[in-house]
Amino acid sequence: MEAGGRLAFHLPAVKDSHRAELFSLLLRNEPLTRADLAALASLDQSTVTRTLKPLIDSGYVTESPAAPAGRGRPRRVLRVAVEKLCAVGIKIGPRVISGVLTDLGAKVVARRELELDHPGPEEALAAVAELADGLLAEVPGSRERTLGIGVGVSGHVDPPSGTCRFSPILGWHEVDIATPLSRASGLPVSVHNDVNTLAVAEYLFGAGREAEDFAVVTLGPGVGLGLVIGGRLYDGAEGLAGEFGHIPLLPNGPQCHCGRRGCLEALAGDDAISRAAGVPDVGTAADLARNGEGATKRTARRAFHSAGEWIGRGLAVLDNILAPELILLSGEGIAAHDLLSEGITSSLRDCAFEGARALERLRVDSADVNLWARGAACLAIQQSLG
Ligand SMILES: [Zn+2]
Repeated sequence: MEAGGRLAFHLPAVKDSHRAELFSLLLRNEPLTRADLAALASLDQSTVTRTLKPLIDSGYVTESPAAPAGRGRPRRVLRVAVEKLCAVGIKIGPRVISGVLTDLGAKVVARRELELDHPGPEEALAAVAELADGLLAEVPGSRERTLGIGVGVSGHVDPPSGTCRFSPILGWHEVDIATPLSRASGLPVSVHNDVNTLAVAEYLFGAGREAEDFAVVTLGPGVGLGLVIGGRLYDGAEGLAGEFGHIPLLPNGPQCHCGRRGCLEALAGDDAISRAAGVPDVGTAADLARNGEGATKRTARRAFHSAGEWIGRGLAVLDNILAPELILLSGEGIAAHDLLSEGITSSLRDCAFEGARALERLRVDSADVNLWARGAACLAIQQSLG
């Protein structure tokens, strides 16, 4: 892991790690005076002033008098110049590709979605280019002001090369995302693990705002994990951390699409639930569990309960190792939280070292569908700060 500042996201293009750090801190806490920002970053004011100068000169950050608080000289405060520039954020999922156009403060100004069932790389990247194009066409004048495109994709991603090394859910191996997309769009492209983009968005704008250490666990087709430790995104050696869905829980358990057996994802992902319920997809399983009758309803409810128990067991492992201030449950699978929660709760309480305390730190996210793509846009903005 590269030594960087807080949420500098260790992007190599950010030559001055303080710059990305100060920008993130400002985005999370604005408005701030120079002194406040220096204190938050644990830097001296002259370093802050020197580091901010290019950001102010290029218009990323403005400094203006705040409304005077009582008598005396008005304090000058720093803000991110949100309207001046924009970024595109995209999440490539196994069934939906979603995208947003955001301002510099990552506020969504346009959004679009495309449904594609398990697209191959070529089809997916053509769709992403089309989606980005549509977003930029929707807001006149945005193309010239766009800093870049951030893409979040599941699995092992290598940000420096913009490559998805291996995504079990998508069935992709060694897919170069940045080169073709950059050629098609004429914009810089940065590529990241999708749960990491979500963790960044949670840290800056979501439930993670309150915490310096937290874990985001996503439920859905896959089971993912994003970690922020000490205000830093932690992605491990070669970006391999967070493969939470592939912790081995059941010897000789069901086959996982990663090639192994008995992984958490193979026991508690959408496919596991629909298979156990004996229906083609998880939406039908949820419908049966809530509104069905007799044996089919009971079978569907058991499928969710069992998945919940495996998730709780996985959370106990996570909590025993890291005990983060917050464990956020997120992702599209949260839509079935009413059906999963009993299993999750009982199993986490019974399996974690101090189960009752672990439960207190577990929180269900409000599941803002745009957060993933917003996080990807944030990473595109960060990338451009270099
Ligand atoms: Zn697996």
